Amino acid sequence: MSTMTGGCLCGQLRYEISGQADCTVHCHCRACRRTTGAAISTWTTVAIENFHVTQGEPETYSSTDKCTRQFCPVCGSQIAFQHEEYEGYVDVAVGSLDNPDTMPPERHLWFARQISWTQIDSHLPKAQEA
Ligand SMILES: [Zn+2]
Ligand SMILES: [Zn+2]
Repeated sequence: MSTMTGGCLCGQLRYEISGQADCTVHCHCRACRRTTGAAISTWTTVAIENFHVTQGEPETYSSTDKCTRQFCPVCGSQIAFQHEEYEGYVDVAVGSLDNPDTMPPERHLWFARQISWTQIDSHLPKAQEA
């Protein structure tokens, strides 16, 4: 069983992921864009029982009525989000992993919301919405 680790920018929040990730995606949705400040965010989906915060206590924010995002109360780095309709899973911010090279994206989500000048991994399958 593999273990991945990650955390926020300031180091206050640390987490561990055990087992295999379900899939890794680039998301172009507005909520990801606004909450990260990035043109695209990349997420890896893991079973909730495989995600463990090992240091610090994340703050949470409901970005929609179905979506809760976890971030560091000190530096603001977003580390994860959970969607009510995907109970049992958590999406972890690939950019917060210590070794993001191990989690290449497999597809795009919300491609219809893509910013016109973003061109990344254009060979991957594209879902226009979630
Ligand atoms: Zn932090
Ligand atoms: Zn998104």
